Amino acid sequence: MDELERLREENARLRSQLEKERKSKDREERGYEERGYEERGLDLEEYRRYGRQLIMDQIGINGQLRLKKSKVLVIGAGGLGCPAIAYLAGAGVGTIGIVDNDTVDESNLHRQILHNTSTVGMSKAESAQQFIRSLNRHVNVQLYKTRLTPTNSFEIFQSNGGYDLVLDCTDTPATRYLVNDTAVLLNIPLVSASALKTEGQLSILNFKGGPCYRCLFPLPPPPDSVLSCGDGGILGPVVGIMGIMQSLEAIKILTGAYDEEGKFSPALTIFNAYGTPQWRHIRMRGKKSTCVACGDSPQLSRESIENGSTDYVAFCGRPTVVAINPSERISVEEYAQLRSSGQEHVLLDVREKSQFDICSLPGSVNVPYSKLRKTPLPDLKEPVYVCCRYGNDSQATVQYLKQELNLSKVFDIKGGLDRWAIDIDASFPRY
Ligand SMILES: [Zn+2]
Repeated sequence: MDELERLREENARLRSQLEKERKSKDREERGYEERGYEERGLDLEEYRRYGRQLIMDQIGINGQLRLKKSKVLVIGAGGLGCPAIAYLAGAGVGTIGIVDNDTVDESNLHRQILHNTSTVGMSKAESAQQFIRSLNRHVNVQLYKTRLTPTNSFEIFQSNGGYDLVLDCTDTPATRYLVNDTAVLLNIPLVSASALKTEGQLSILNFKGGPCYRCLFPLPPPPDSVLSCGDGGILGPVVGIMGIMQSLEAIKILTGAYDEEGKFSPALTIFNAYGTPQWRHIRMRGKKSTCVACGDSPQLSRESIENGSTDYVAFCGRPTVVAINPSERISVEEYAQLRSSGQEHVLLDVREKSQFDICSLPGSVNVPYSKLRKTPLPDLKEPVYVCCRYGNDSQATVQYLKQELNLSKVFDIKGGLDRWAIDIDASFPRY
């Protein structure tokens, strides 16, 4: 069999050689001119692949060759990073670096379009690489399966001979400031976007004398106001639109749309899916002279970042964690026993109404945590058991009811309804 296989391969090789010689003879006979189309950097398959954008004045052959030479670093292969990466890879960006240490979760799939049901549990960076490989083999993919930290950010930005452009597709304030500061100190332009619920923002930063992220947002949002998608909710197309906008601006920057003097003016673009109009465009001034990163007397340096004296976690703060007394908490098992014993009690569910509508325990009373202080409460006949999704808001509620309303028999159900679904009732939805 091996011999047969070898002969088949030999035969195929000879045939292909013969075919090549025949074609070249044809060309000679018909007088075709050798123009070296492949030598200038694109192979014939790439001409076909990129044809529809190649014939646009804004791109053209020079734009395509610029894309191919470009190296773009995408921080985060999530809701923003996925659509951005898909379009950058499709457009033929030569090198795409991806920084992500997370793994694909089922709850990512409604918006993170590079991942799919079969890559759940896989590293997001690898899942993204798999997608790019099947889309466009001409893209060189570099993976950094790590969290971006003050000790590795400069190294990563400068690896591969240095990236030309960075896309900030993260969702934590501390990382955003780190991405910005590294980009400013290495003089790399940054396309930054964010999205939450039904709204998004986009801006080109550290570009042609324009502002940086710190010029726009000198101070981080208060830590308790930061919702991540875990509890904040996000509509897939909203974050998708913002990620696609990032890829569009990246392509424009890389192909020279802003090269000409006066073509670029800094702006903050705001998208509101349910607003009229949906888009607002706020023009911005140039960089702030007082900015600690890019101003006249910057206070940040590579050294201060790498040695930790610029402390991002302290700067952005930590959300206040309510820790109540262990005697004020019961496990889901204990609560299940209490329910089956028929003991009279009130079950107060403090999740938002949209979550309460998805699923709830029979007999529970819904008062969203966000409305606790603003609405008259129903009659809470003690004992009161408080639950929420994961068991954080419920603890804060227990504290509030005891301290502000002077109730005494109030208990938190540890781990919330998510824990209930895991340990007690497998038919109760986890979302
Ligand atoms: Zn600045």
